[in-house]
Amino acid sequence: MTEPLPPGATIGILGGGQLGRMLAVAAAELGLKCHIFCPDPASPAFDVSAARTIAGYDDRDALEAFVRSVDAVTYEFENVDLAAAELIAAAKPLRPGAKALEVSQDRLTEKQFLAGKNIPVGRFLAFDPFEPDDKTLDLLFERLGDPVVMKTRRFGYDGKGQAILKNDGSGAETLSAFAGQDVIFEAFVPFTREVSIMAVRGVGGEAATYDVTENVHTDHILATSTVPADIDPETANEARRIAGDILDGLDYVGVLGIEFFVVGDHDSESLLVNEIAPRVHNSGHWTQDGCAVSQFENHIRAVAGWPLGTTDRHADMVMTNLIGQDAADWQALCADPQARLHLYGKAEIRPGRKMGHVNRITRQT
Ligand code: AMP
Repeated sequence: MTEPLPPGATIGILGGGQLGRMLAVAAAELGLKCHIFCPDPASPAFDVSAARTIAGYDDRDALEAFVRSVDAVTYEFENVDLAAAELIAAAKPLRPGAKALEVSQDRLTEKQFLAGKNIPVGRFLAFDPFEPDDKTLDLLFERLGDPVVMKTRRFGYDGKGQAILKNDGSGAETLSAFAGQDVIFEAFVPFTREVSIMAVRGVGGEAATYDVTENVHTDHILATSTVPADIDPETANEARRIAGDILDGLDYVGVLGIEFFVVGDHDSESLLVNEIAPRVHNSGHWTQDGCAVSQFENHIRAVAGWPLGTTDRHADMVMTNLIGQDAADWQALCADPQARLHLYGKAEIRPGRKMGHVNRITRQT
């Protein structure tokens, strides 16, 4: 189906977290409805959606009923089961498509896809199957240098499923803790900064990018995103070019987040892709208050087959995540005239849990 969905149509969203919630709000602003499918009865996205299904992602009957009730389907997380994705795509437009899921839900497949498109990535190595012996560490240090970053190929996020192997005698124990799992080994990248770009592609192949954002992580969780990033214009153009290649290579529809390492400084700057996320992304939340059309609205427009909106930025911004107890300061944040508070409606504050974020305009441009 290439006809645009009419206002009043329903978009199905797999996943009911804060990303699904903000997508549903953006859809509502365009007169579109959302049906959220999520196993968690306390999903934040349920509060703002026309319909919900509480069921496991492997519940075929529930998925089939969900697909019948919607006009197109998207998702807020990349670990959607491929069998479920295929079931959906056989009946209704699934945007982004199954290829984006297949490539991005396995770090090895993702790196191979990127390298195959001549997109720069750090050095990596994987064993199939991974059965470490007493020569494995030496081989890793020889091929990738010291230290080596070890990551599970699937289901890792916010630093989970990751460890650093050092050539100081401690590596064997760390390595054996991951034995039997599918892992990828990466050379440690001595980056000067981490940046990301949000890109969007419509059903007709038209594409656009938001400005590059500079990201700071604390305890592996995104703490702040600042735009513009402190990089050269040529580096920013390179990020846009890479984004275009990835979007086209995946025949992508929707918003895609790409995280990069910047190596070197200014005159000698280069980019390596760390990972891609086939969805709206935390480092794009600043677009809600820094652009006329946010990443959420543009994703919904693309999924609905509508013309894309502008990705132009009208302000310099800092987005600060509210993690755990940070959200308890909501009154002070709300009273701050420079801050725009976004809360996700999560009932319980837990350490490390993303509860909301604050967008601050630092300069009108
Ligand atoms: P990831 O889950 O791959 O995004 O990794 C989480 C964070 O760990 C990144 O944002 C980096 O700060 C750090 N990291 C991951 N891979 C590497 C690497 N190969 N070299 C250096 N730092 C890394």
